[in-house]
Amino acid sequence: MDLGIAGRKAIVGGASMGLGKACALSLAREGVDVTIVARTRATIEAAAEEIRAATGARVTAVVMDITTDEGRASALKACPEPDIVINNSGGPPTGNFRDWDRDAWIAALNGNMLSAIFMIKDTVDGMIARKFGRIVNITSSAVKAPISILGLSNGARAGLTGFVAGVAREVAKHNVTVNNLLPGDFDTERHQSNTRAMAKVQNKSYEEMRAIRTAQVAAGRFGAPLELGEYCAYLCSVQAGFITGQNLLIDGGKYPGTF
Ligand code: NAP
Repeated sequence: MDLGIAGRKAIVGGASMGLGKACALSLAREGVDVTIVARTRATIEAAAEEIRAATGARVTAVVMDITTDEGRASALKACPEPDIVINNSGGPPTGNFRDWDRDAWIAALNGNMLSAIFMIKDTVDGMIARKFGRIVNITSSAVKAPISILGLSNGARAGLTGFVAGVAREVAKHNVTVNNLLPGDFDTERHQSNTRAMAKVQNKSYEEMRAIRTAQVAAGRFGAPLELGEYCAYLCSVQAGFITGQNLLIDGGKYPGTF
């Protein structure tokens, strides 16, 4: 399917590896110019080169923390009029809620709620004026089925989810959509470090914990980042213009509910 977005411009956060890189790659394959952001120069530049070589697309690497005002300003300097924004970065640390003080909560709210809200604020009016916009926030299946050691994530992302529910309806008539993609278990660096943390809490080996987590997924495996990247690209397509304000699970059937 031709997604109808060749020549469009995108900003993709947290894109040197994992889910963000997969989204950038899938968009670039559709002919989208992508500006990719992460904090580590070597890995974001390597990712840019890899995506360029694989797709021939125009790829700009920005070495910045996307959760800061300066980081978002740099991304917008590289791509002043994005048609597509993928809000993504790292997740907050795992732990026990008894140990999290105000600073820990403020950092989580900034990283996984406010930074996406400010990026939407900075870009949505231009999308409205140009009569096309696609915003996808990478959140987590933990929004629907909380994971106790990820309490900072459960809380911060729920806040973003509430905000998106309102703004998506406000901008929909301008052909601007805002959706949240909720990954379940995808085999990335982040997932592996969470598995290590869970193994420690439960006094198990990493391999045992990985096997337990795999068995919890109805598909019997973890997702490949590209599976999420392709879904994300579809949500950014012309054809997906009637999908907005949704929380879309992609979890291999792990969530057990009917809806
Ligand atoms: P990952 O493998 O750790 O990759 C994270 C990427 O984001 C890296 O490119 C990292 O590069 C970049 N990054 C982190 N913090 C950043 C910041 N402040 N500014 C700019 N770039 C930043 O993580 P992932 O598994 O792809 O996860 C992506 C998001 O999805 C996370 O929020 C995670 O919590 C969420 N999620 C993942 C899963 C899963 O199964 N993988 C499930 C549910 C939710 P630098 O460190 O160089 O900046």
